[in-house]
Amino acid sequence: MSILVVGSVAFDTLTTPTGKAEKILGGAATHFALAASFFTDVRVVGVVGRDFTPENEAILTRRGIDTAGIEHADGLSFHWTGSYTGAMNEATTLSTDLNVFADFSPKIPAAYADTDFLFLANIDPVLQLRVREAMPNVKLVCGDTMNYWIADHTASLKKVLAELDVLLINDGEARLLTGESNLVRAAEAVMALGPKSLVIKHGEYGATAFFSTRSFPGLTTAPHPFRAPALPLSEVIDPTGAGDSFAGGFYGYLASQPALTPEAFRRAMFYGGVMGSFAVEQFGTKRLENTTREEIEERFRLFERISHLDVATK
Ligand code: AMP
Repeated sequence: MSILVVGSVAFDTLTTPTGKAEKILGGAATHFALAASFFTDVRVVGVVGRDFTPENEAILTRRGIDTAGIEHADGLSFHWTGSYTGAMNEATTLSTDLNVFADFSPKIPAAYADTDFLFLANIDPVLQLRVREAMPNVKLVCGDTMNYWIADHTASLKKVLAELDVLLINDGEARLLTGESNLVRAAEAVMALGPKSLVIKHGEYGATAFFSTRSFPGLTTAPHPFRAPALPLSEVIDPTGAGDSFAGGFYGYLASQPALTPEAFRRAMFYGGVMGSFAVEQFGTKRLENTTREEIEERFRLFERISHLDVATK
């Protein structure tokens, strides 16, 4: 099975309470692709500028990621500058230089036409929709977005939502999208817009999956919501990309499974948490670049242990 991801491939300049990093490799598609590459084949569609070096590309290709869909344009790469304070639950955007992203029109290599799973990472919903329409035969479509698109590009975002099997957003975004402060009601309102299932990320507190009756073929009643933990970590170095890494672990694991079942979906939520927990341990992509499948399985077992309850038998 393979995943095609479209989204930002970027340079990030980051300040966190633990330090600073200048123009390091980032981008939603980058973090997603690295995390998903531990589970399945990944193909990336995006655009970079002339400042994107062969060393940057090697970070992806070393993990077996297919970068043929990354267009090299004449200009500078997308550059995001952000900072985090306190508990680092939310990024403050200091600047967003779209650069070559401003005129980006996704081109999908012919060899990608047989892709089974599509991930629409954070990007202009107009572009997300264009990629969705160019890939009519995929088995599953999952997407992400952010406040910026929810607040100012609502009409085009709603067209994307109508196309999604699974939407992954954080709690603030779910509230902003629906105007509902109660998360359960917000989830119902989101799914009424199109997504069959919804994964709401709560940062350091884990993630919750909500299901509709359309979530799984053959099921007539919707499974209960499912809450997956986040690993309590004593030190977070850089939270950038945690959400995209969660999405990569979640969707990569789902794509590696023989069938989309509620059980596979729940395990995928744990793998999402595992990949998110690695992502924050070093700046940028460093930690994900240097992890192994063995470490991932070890941490998955840790996730099982920290959320396991023995039911008393009187
Ligand atoms: P997250 O997983 O939410 O921490 O995503 C962080 C990544 O999103 C960073 O590596 C940024 O390069 C990227 N990013 C920030 N703003 C945008 C935007 N407006 N569009 C696309 N990607 C963005």
